[in-house]
Amino acid sequence: MDLNKLVRKNIQQMKPYSSARDEYKDLQTDMVFLDANENPFDSSLNRYPDPQQTALKAIISKQKEVASDQILLGNGSDEVLDLIFRAFCEPNQDSILTLPPTYGMYEVLANLNAIENIQVPLNSDFQIEVDSILEHIKPTTKLLFICSPNNPSGNTVDRTAVERLLKDFKGLVVIDEAYIDFTEESSWIQWLNVYPNLIVTQTLSKAYGLAGIRLGICYASKEIIAVLNKIKPPYNINTLTQEAALKALHNKEVVSDQIASIINERNRLNKALETYPFIKKLYPSEANFILIKVDDANKRYDELIKNGIVVRNRSSQSHCENCLRITVGTPSENTQLLTLLKTLK
Ligand SMILES: *Cc1c(COP(=O)(O)O)cnc(C)c1O
Repeated sequence: MDLNKLVRKNIQQMKPYSSARDEYKDLQTDMVFLDANENPFDSSLNRYPDPQQTALKAIISKQKEVASDQILLGNGSDEVLDLIFRAFCEPNQDSILTLPPTYGMYEVLANLNAIENIQVPLNSDFQIEVDSILEHIKPTTKLLFICSPNNPSGNTVDRTAVERLLKDFKGLVVIDEAYIDFTEESSWIQWLNVYPNLIVTQTLSKAYGLAGIRLGICYASKEIIAVLNKIKPPYNINTLTQEAALKALHNKEVVSDQIASIINERNRLNKALETYPFIKKLYPSEANFILIKVDDANKRYDELIKNGIVVRNRSSQSHCENCLRITVGTPSENTQLLTLLKTLK
């Protein structure tokens, strides 16, 4: 793989935006800042945030054992994914490859950036078909998106299949690990230094309970991260988000307890749902949701809505006919769901 060949021409020539403050970062303590037209009166939020999020990256680096210069933070993974598109895909020329049924944002971002989306469906066990993928790759295909555990099916993808793609595909392989904290499978981040074309994304939106702060994390080689750093908006992670994320990462026990509860509840729901006659199939989940196939998804969806419970109807996606995706809630929310389902004929 030649990274320079993958980067868009206009971006190869760009330099990262730098503020005067960046250059004096190490001297900061006693300086008088008259450089950025901020309001000088201290409110704890009157200064621009750290554009490199140094403190936050340091703790992520320590916890995940990935060097700080191999980490980029975004306003949610959605911004990270958008930056990857904009760095590597030439509008109206390049293509990406996705594996439906999967996360809807890849398609949205492809449309937004005028990039062709080549779709190679997962098989009926929601596993990847390596040969078919390799056949569908074009010379213009820059990115391949793999979601593991996959949304909406909940399974992780087979390791050896991913390894073959990392070896044989000459573009970048993006592995979306939004649900990694709910599975016993290990993260792909430990392979970053083996595969120069690997990008892994994670988020604080699911397991960490911080969807509201918008913090997505991208891990890759330092060369890929340097490219993304050139094009990211300088102050994309606001001060409140940086503070809330630091606090959560310093209090990991709270998060681990919640993950344990969600996994327990996932197992309880699984056992209970097996007994309902209108549920035709339960897909084994390694995430914080369960995909079920029912007799009539529209009917069951409406019945749930009428009783105040919102789930997601995934019927329109490949291999997901009559499928509903149910997020694991609190123990009492799950009991409410099970009680209601029992009354349905
Ligand atoms: C929820 C989800 C995300 C999270 O996106 P954020 O922008 O970080 O909230 C990313 N990928 C997948 C597959 C998801 O389901």
